[in-house]
Amino acid sequence: EKTEERLSFQAEVTKLLDIVVHSLYSDRQIFLRELISNASDACDKLRYEALTNPGLREDAGAFRITLRVDAEARTIEVADNGIGMNRDELIDNLGTIARSGTEAFMQQLAASDRKGDASLIGQFGVGFYSSFMVAERVEVFSRRAGEPQGWHWASDGGGAFTIGEAEVAQPGTRIVLHLREDAKEFLETWRLTSTVKTYSDHIAIPVVLLGTDDEGQPTEETLNAASALWTRPRSEITDEQYKEFYHHVAHAFDDPWHTLHFKAEGAIEYTGLLFIPSQKPFDLFQPERKTHVKLYVNRVFITDDAPDVLPSYLRFVRGIVDSSDLPLNVSREMLQHNPVLRKIQGGLVKRLLGDLKKRAEAADDYATFWEAFGPVLKEGIYEDFERRSDLLELARFRSSTTEGWVSLADYAARMKTGQEAIYYITGDDPEVLKRSPQLEGFRAKGVEVLLLTDPVDEFWINAVPSYQDTPLKSAAAGATGLEAVTDAEAETEAAPKDETAPADQIEALTTALKAALGDAVKEVRPSSRLKESAVCLVSEEGDMSLHLERMLKQAGQ
Ligand code: ADP
Ligand code: MG
Repeated sequence: EKTEERLSFQAEVTKLLDIVVHSLYSDRQIFLRELISNASDACDKLRYEALTNPGLREDAGAFRITLRVDAEARTIEVADNGIGMNRDELIDNLGTIARSGTEAFMQQLAASDRKGDASLIGQFGVGFYSSFMVAERVEVFSRRAGEPQGWHWASDGGGAFTIGEAEVAQPGTRIVLHLREDAKEFLETWRLTSTVKTYSDHIAIPVVLLGTDDEGQPTEETLNAASALWTRPRSEITDEQYKEFYHHVAHAFDDPWHTLHFKAEGAIEYTGLLFIPSQKPFDLFQPERKTHVKLYVNRVFITDDAPDVLPSYLRFVRGIVDSSDLPLNVSREMLQHNPVLRKIQGGLVKRLLGDLKKRAEAADDYATFWEAFGPVLKEGIYEDFERRSDLLELARFRSSTTEGWVSLADYAARMKTGQEAIYYITGDDPEVLKRSPQLEGFRAKGVEVLLLTDPVDEFWINAVPSYQDTPLKSAAAGATGLEAVTDAEAETEAAPKDETAPADQIEALTTALKAALGDAVKEVRPSSRLKESAVCLVSEEGDMSLHLERMLKQAGQ
């Protein structure tokens, strides 16, 4: 026996495992989905690395994932001939939490008042750690492709694991679950078979159940369809299958809000299977603004990191694109500014925005999308000049005169006689903005003002002078132009007594105010903006807005 080293889990893992181990949870079969998903990812990774380094595929056998049950020993094995892990990778990957699904689970658990209620595990999955829902002890035998040394990792789900050298015949990973007494049901073949069919049918690599027949001869049964889901005709794919594929490819556990599956035929051929999540992924506002569509060439996984598959403002989209018009040995460098990829990107964006336009017709349903991803999509208004008008049509806003979300088209359709601009105001909080003294004149005339409260609004609004020839104008800068708008009250009531002071008195007052305020203000001038308040601050037309100034100050600029 070789000596094994004993190491502690990261504190968060210990906490997580405590929840997992002590939950008698009804959806425990998801451990299998998680292990098969990891095995499939591992095969994809090796297939890609072997394109440039064929030596990595020593055994050169076809990729597959095998299951084996030993009823007497009460064990289940899940094995793959994928990339494998070396010592450091085992420690990092199976001892810390930096993983998508798990991270989201922990956040939800912290946010929910149902602490200790582990029913969330089924919704999220906790990746590899799900094993401990059914196993009292988990062993991992693994060898990294291209490295001679194999490793043995083991844990009982307490605070620690052991790791040491081991003989591992071929590259890949074999996971041995020593089932808990109360999880014996998973030794039943039908239980495993139906679980794989339900959760892992979309996996492109065969999942094979190994066994022996009555004469003691080895048997093999392939349990899944083992063809890439996106290559199958749409009519043969159920919603449930799309959903499971989304969970696998996105490492997410909500339902997709939108599913787009198509084959583009023409100069460049490619298939896309794209999803818009219903819940915000947690990394949406990380500074890298990374997109998340996996690139395949002829069903071979290439990368989930290709820069040009989608623009950043569509980084909430998940899924895959598979083309036969890129070379299999395409390198990351070749993917940079690749003309084929640019064309594919154009096609994907067009379809996605087209679908959004259709779904925007159902206002309530679209609102759930907009509330999650609107702030990201709006980045495209200043980044993607070509699609600017499409994106402006898709944008929704809060407004000073209506509840709910308003489009620019809605706004334009109800502009007042004599109103020559679409008015907006920027700030942090729509309720505060609505009551702003800067809007008094607008309220009095019943003129609608869009309330822009996302940080990104400050940026695109300056790049967009107009919507369908109607200028976009800040309600808080320069002259309002409200004089020309027919006064809602004036039309019905008798004109109020003229309360305006004589011009020379106003002149005297503004001069005195300017003298008192000095350099703190640029100018003091009379305005039709105000009705009840005596004064308010406005910025000069073309200057930075007051809200942007505040934002930049807060950011320390
Ligand atoms: P996730 O799959 O979301 O990354 P998991 O907890 O399921 O999270 O897995 C953690 C990590 O462990 C994976 O990202 C991968 O690097 C590694 N891993 C797990 N199973 C395998 C496997 N069978 N082969 C190679 N690496 C694996
Ligand atoms: Mg996983």
